[in-house]
Amino acid sequence: MLIGLPKFEYLSCETMEEASSMLLKHVGNSRILAGGTDLFVKMKHRRILPGHLISIKKIQDLHGIGWEQYGLRIGALTSIEEIRNSPLIATNFPILKDAAERLGTMHIRNLATLGGNIANASPAAEFATPLLTLGASVKLAGAQGERIVALEDFFVGPGKSVIQPDEILSEILIPSQPFAEEIYLKHSTRPMDVAIVNLAVLAEINGDRCDQIKIALGAVGPVPFRCRKAEELIRGSKFNGDLQTLFREAAQIAVEESRPIGDFRASAENRIEVIRRLVVKGLEQTVGKLNLRQAGVK
Ligand SMILES: Cc1cc2nc3c(=O)[nH]c(=O)nc-3n(C[C@H](O)[C@H](O)[C@H](O)COP(=O)(O)OP(=O)(O)OC[C@H]3O[C@@H](n4cnc5c(N)ncnc54)[C@H](O)[C@@H]3O)c2cc1C
Repeated sequence: MLIGLPKFEYLSCETMEEASSMLLKHVGNSRILAGGTDLFVKMKHRRILPGHLISIKKIQDLHGIGWEQYGLRIGALTSIEEIRNSPLIATNFPILKDAAERLGTMHIRNLATLGGNIANASPAAEFATPLLTLGASVKLAGAQGERIVALEDFFVGPGKSVIQPDEILSEILIPSQPFAEEIYLKHSTRPMDVAIVNLAVLAEINGDRCDQIKIALGAVGPVPFRCRKAEELIRGSKFNGDLQTLFREAAQIAVEESRPIGDFRASAENRIEVIRRLVVKGLEQTVGKLNLRQAGVK
């Protein structure tokens, strides 16, 4: 059945100041419109009914991928397809290319933006877990000026973040990661579907010892999160010999750190099983990449 959109006023702005003042003018009854791939679905199902949609698509400052002093800056309006096709991302942050390849279909990826994926604050957001392991931050711009928030502090609940009513997520900031291997895994019903569980792992070794480890899980709690206790278990371990027992123990700890619920995609029990499998698989694949690099294959 075709469901129509509810009535709304479409407003378009060309500068951040304009967008901020429109948001303030219509506070509580407006939404930012980027690609619309999340927003229009929610509006069609009457889950949200904003009277005004403020399109930010003409704000030039919100586009582009490029290096800054601290690392990489990705403008909020960068489409998922642009991320997927960016040589700069493929070379320096391949985990983001992997995530882009797993989000929706080509049609959705052409419309959907990175800013929208994060601002929507879905616990299953494709880019949340890779960006958490990369130590990313977001820049929020509003009437009071700009502020930078670590992604880990950004999400506060399903669909909820620290963004204030007059604020726009303007860019995603990723510190340089000169030496580390990363893996992104997604478990979903069909490849283009939203994740039942997603996982990102980032690791580095010093000799054969694990020097740095970051594990992030999505869709198994109210917000995407770092599995700090599982990381603690692994950090400092020797990455040689049989790692099965260590990785299974880490997966069990990750299960205990999660708070999965059942929904139309999967039951809570099913999600727990998937966490166990994905964490072990993610750690094994990361170690595999580290070994290849050590052997000079990469
Ligand atoms: C068929 C289909 C498949 C999908 N598959 C996936 C998937 O596999 N993985 C996945 O993660 N998602 C998936 N999605 C969801 C969606 O495509 C992504 O989350 C997308 O990145 C959202 O970006 P957008 O630009 O379309 O956001 P919009 O829909 O425009 O906005 C989403 C929300 O964020 C707010 N917002 C947007 N940009 C900003 C900003 N710069 N500052 C402040 N607030 C902002 C909006 O007001 C709105 O509340 C799918 C959607 C569809 C329809």
